[in-house]
Amino acid sequence: MIEEIAIQKCIGDIFTENQMLERIRDLCFLGSRFSGTESEKQAQEHLVKFLVNLNLKPIEWEFEYQGWRRGTCSFQIEDQKAKDIPAISLVLAPSTLVEGIEGLIICGAGGSEKELEKIKSEAKEAFLLVHSGNTEEGWLHRRIKYANAVNIGAKAFIFANHNPGQLFPTGSVRSNRLGEIPAIGISKENYSYINELIKLKGSLKGKIEVSNISEKTVSKHIIWEIEGENPEEVIVIGGHLDGHDLAQGATDNAGGIATLLEITRLFIKYNVKPRRTLKFIAFAVEEFGVVGSTIYANKEDLQNIVAMVNLDGIVGHIPKHISCNGYGKLCKTILKLKENLLYEPSISSEIVSASDNYPFFCKGIPSLCIYGENPDPKLGRGYGHTSADTFDKIDPLDAKLSLAFALVFISHFSNIERLPEKLAQREIIEILQNNKLEENLKILEKWPFK
Ligand SMILES: [Zn+2]
Repeated sequence: MIEEIAIQKCIGDIFTENQMLERIRDLCFLGSRFSGTESEKQAQEHLVKFLVNLNLKPIEWEFEYQGWRRGTCSFQIEDQKAKDIPAISLVLAPSTLVEGIEGLIICGAGGSEKELEKIKSEAKEAFLLVHSGNTEEGWLHRRIKYANAVNIGAKAFIFANHNPGQLFPTGSVRSNRLGEIPAIGISKENYSYINELIKLKGSLKGKIEVSNISEKTVSKHIIWEIEGENPEEVIVIGGHLDGHDLAQGATDNAGGIATLLEITRLFIKYNVKPRRTLKFIAFAVEEFGVVGSTIYANKEDLQNIVAMVNLDGIVGHIPKHISCNGYGKLCKTILKLKENLLYEPSISSEIVSASDNYPFFCKGIPSLCIYGENPDPKLGRGYGHTSADTFDKIDPLDAKLSLAFALVFISHFSNIERLPEKLAQREIIEILQNNKLEENLKILEKWPFK
């Protein structure tokens, strides 16, 4: 059993030292950690070195995936004369023809099926422009908006930020495969400008020239353990190490990885022995569509794994949110822990399908995703997935609170006498169907069953 006094000592260290902030800073200053880059390799080496210094023996779990890196990207609109609009390519988007492609720009609002229904015939063979904000029916993942654009026969996908600041939104368009049509990101300011021009002129033509490189690439997860009193039962504590190539990925997800490292360091320092073994995994290739953890969950024997806790964006906002992925019994278990936690989180049965907990949930493992909840949901990802997700956005007090919260939560969660049992396939299907996710997950090619 974990001794309360050891946890109190851990919390004391968190608030009297600055180690958490140093962990985040070191990861941010290594660069984006984008899959397939030198920065990714350096970050993986950095982790291994840190863990070896703690006398641990980290495992490097290699796998192959569809790699991608950006080349050049240009976007012009036909104003008085051709005008350049700054743009970036979205991840896993294909190149255009060398001479570029031309088309009419058609605005598709938030990009939901319902919104696109109205402009379907115009958008065929055209450039479909959609924003990253909520659709008429609520929030939709970028990959669904892209799939909708492909399905109506658009020639290219233009994805505009809905938050101001001349920031490009990035992200993958498909999961572990190249997309069908070119896809670029533009700022909110240029989105508004283009919309005004369309109103003024009646129609607007654009030209896109993009060259990207895609090839099979190898990456690896870094895995380490703190052995529990009952090593037969294992809880995976995960987070993704990779970020997007435009930024430092400070909140998404250097903060999550720093939390894993600091919990490990403090548990070792104060000899914390949990009831169950904690298997920490710094996942690679999450930002390409939850690729690395999906490959891991499909290949690895998960027999001993009794639960999974994913930290994705835990630093950045208060309160912390715990999503129980539609599993009622798990929600009840977490609610019981609530009063023992450092401060009150919000708890929901929300299903997070776009992060590393999802492949474990699909295997029936009780899975949680913990993140900082943006008090203004309209902001969506905010600075996430833009060049502004940088170390200066980390509030030192929030970083410490996030770590203390996660450490206390994990110490209690790993000590629960009886965890909810694993889900059978029919129960998983029922949960996904009850949450009306079947159709979208199929569009995303993430429906886990035949
Ligand atoms: Zn993330």
